[in-house]
Amino acid sequence: MARRRLATLRSQLQALAHGKIVAMKSALALLLVLVASIGSAQDPIRVFISVDMEGISGIAHSEMTGGAGAEYERGRKLTVADVNAAIEGAREAGASEFLVNDSHGTMRNVKIEELSAPVSLISNNSKALGMMEGISADFDAVFFIGYHAMEGQPGILAHTGSGGKVADISVNGRSMSEGGMNARAAGSYGVPVVLATGDDAFANEIRTLVNGSIETVVVKRHIRRRTAELLHPDEARRLIREGARKAIEQLDSFEPTLPHEPVTVDITYKNPDLADVASILPTIERTGRYSVRFEVDDYVHAYQMIRVLYRNLSE
Ligand SMILES: [Zn+2]
Repeated sequence: MARRRLATLRSQLQALAHGKIVAMKSALALLLVLVASIGSAQDPIRVFISVDMEGISGIAHSEMTGGAGAEYERGRKLTVADVNAAIEGAREAGASEFLVNDSHGTMRNVKIEELSAPVSLISNNSKALGMMEGISADFDAVFFIGYHAMEGQPGILAHTGSGGKVADISVNGRSMSEGGMNARAAGSYGVPVVLATGDDAFANEIRTLVNGSIETVVVKRHIRRRTAELLHPDEARRLIREGARKAIEQLDSFEPTLPHEPVTVDITYKNPDLADVASILPTIERTGRYSVRFEVDDYVHAYQMIRVLYRNLSE
C-alpha cells in the first residue's frame, strides 16, 4: 500500500508540475493534497491469494489432491470453500479486489464459477512464477491458503516443490518451504504475507520463515504424514474468515519478507540423475552426488530458476 500511495503522490505532484491542477498553486495547497492522500481510504485494498491443496480443511490424503484420486472432486470443493472464507473475511475488513492464483499440481483445481465474485483467477501451471504468478507491487497483502510444511518435516503431505524429486531447497544456507520461498517472492515486490492456513506443523514453520508477524489459521492437527485430526470444515472456515478479517484490519502491522541478495540456492534431489542433468546447465554447479548450487543477483530470478530445476527436469 505504501508503494501505491507513493505512486499516487508522485502522479499528483507531476500533475501539479504540469499545471493540470491550476487552482492549487500555493505551498499550503500542496501540503493539503499530501496530507489528504496519506490519510485517504479511497484506495481499494487488493489481496493476492495463492492456494495450495495439502493444507485445506478436511484434506488428509493425496487421494483428495490429485486429478486421478478417487476423492479429488471432494478436495476441490473443500479448497474453493476455504478460499471463499478468506475472501469473505477480507471483504468484511474492507478489501475489495482479489486475484486467486491456483498453486497446486495442474493448477486447474479451482473452478472460477465457484469463487465468491468479484474475483479473478489464474489457472493452469505454465507459469514463470508458479505459485506466485500474478504478484506485483499493486497488491497490499498476500494470503497463503491450504499450504503445507517442507519436505522432511512432520506435517500433512509435507514436501517442497515436487515431492517425488526434491529432498531440500536451501536459500542462502537455510532450508525453505514453499511458503518461505513464496513469502520472499512477495517481499521482492514489497508485499507482506499476512495470512496463512494449513495444519499445525505448517503454521509453526511459516512463522519462523517470515519477517515480523503473520496471522495463521490451523485447520487440522497432523498425526502422521497422511493422517490428521480434522476440524469440521464449517469451523475451519469460520476461523479462516476471522483470520482474514483480522489480518486485513491490521494490515499496517505486517512487513514484507525481504530476500537477501545476491541469492545462493542449493537443491538436493532425491535422485542423483536429476543432479546430473541440472549440472549440465550453465551457472549450475555440482556440489554433491545429489546436489547442485547456483548464485544469482536477483531473488525473483532465483525463484524462477528453482521452479525450472524441480519441475522441468527429467532423468
Ligand atoms: Zn505445495
